Amino acid sequence: MSNTKITVTSPLLPPLEEFTPYLQKIWESKWITNNGHFHRELEKALAEYLGVPYISLFTNGTLPLITALQALNIKGEVITTPYSFVATTHAIWWNGLTPVFVDVDQKSGNMDPAKIEAAISERTTAIMPVHVYGRPCDTAAIDAIAKKRGLKVIYDAAHAFGVTLNGRSLLLEGDISTLSFHATKTYNTIEGGALVCHDEKMKKQIDYLKNFGFADEVTVVGPGINSKMDEVRAAYGLLSLKYIDEAIKKRQKIAYRYRAELAGIKGLSYFEDLPGVRHNYSYFPIFIDEPAYGLSRDELYNKLKEKNIFGRRYFYPLISKFDPYSALPSAAPANLPVAEKLAAEVLCLPIHHELTESDQERIIALIRG
Ligand SMILES: *Cc1c(COP(=O)(O)O)cnc(C)c1O
Repeated sequence: MSNTKITVTSPLLPPLEEFTPYLQKIWESKWITNNGHFHRELEKALAEYLGVPYISLFTNGTLPLITALQALNIKGEVITTPYSFVATTHAIWWNGLTPVFVDVDQKSGNMDPAKIEAAISERTTAIMPVHVYGRPCDTAAIDAIAKKRGLKVIYDAAHAFGVTLNGRSLLLEGDISTLSFHATKTYNTIEGGALVCHDEKMKKQIDYLKNFGFADEVTVVGPGINSKMDEVRAAYGLLSLKYIDEAIKKRQKIAYRYRAELAGIKGLSYFEDLPGVRHNYSYFPIFIDEPAYGLSRDELYNKLKEKNIFGRRYFYPLISKFDPYSALPSAAPANLPVAEKLAAEVLCLPIHHELTESDQERIIALIRG
């Protein structure tokens, strides 16, 4: 068997020869950033593809989270999940707010709505959940709590590109949803991101904030930031969008194959598709119960690594374990038993549009043996 390196993901790169005409157009126009032609085209194309009325492009997936908290004027404490990429909590911290960690649901890895109310204090103003692995949170339950307690909801939907729930974009849940188009994500613009909101007034506000707060040459409406996507990356994104459905189809095939081939292995579990959800198969996490499986998660991780196969332990360590946050009362392991368990058991297997059948066979054989 071959021993070529297999990584957890591989960027969806548009064909280089197809990209050249886009570059030529940008060079000819000399309009290389600040809401240029391709920027406007990509916003239009993404709004249509994703099925959302208002979307604003950003330079990455962290700044829309930071900007969402600014735009909604969030103060005090924000309830969030420790089982995510560290940027989710960083965005709260960068606004001078206090993150409050709530445990997750074992069945999904998403914030457990049953644990939210106990974490609400008189300082709480918002909830920031994450659709982990692109699998929808219990948005109905979260929405009901938010309405009852007068809280805003910002979904970190970095993993949820193209996910729909009963035919409706998941990005329409909550007050604001954000996306990441980083190279490692299902759909990428090398670096990039976006913010989805519900009305024109909010989109305008967001577009001002991502451009230093400028509403016009002489008016600054708020303490803005610079998070404008440039023309080269917007063009790259526009071209890549032509290939995304094909890439997701390949991912789906890989996910189905993993499920078929890993079924019944003692001590190994994984998620199934959910009814009514169009999944994007952005990750394929498996969970290793050491006593039943015979190896610990880390032993399996290293066994694969020795054979040049690089899974990733998303999300280990928990955000609540990192230095800036570990001293928070809500970061105590006793407060987060399910998240602690998932973080100890999870291994995300390679899944991407270029993974071949023989690569996948190598991975499956090692996990079985
Ligand atoms: C990737 C990611 C981000 C950050 O996105 P960047 O584009 O890398 O800034 C935020 N949240 C989650 C859950 C992510 O996976």
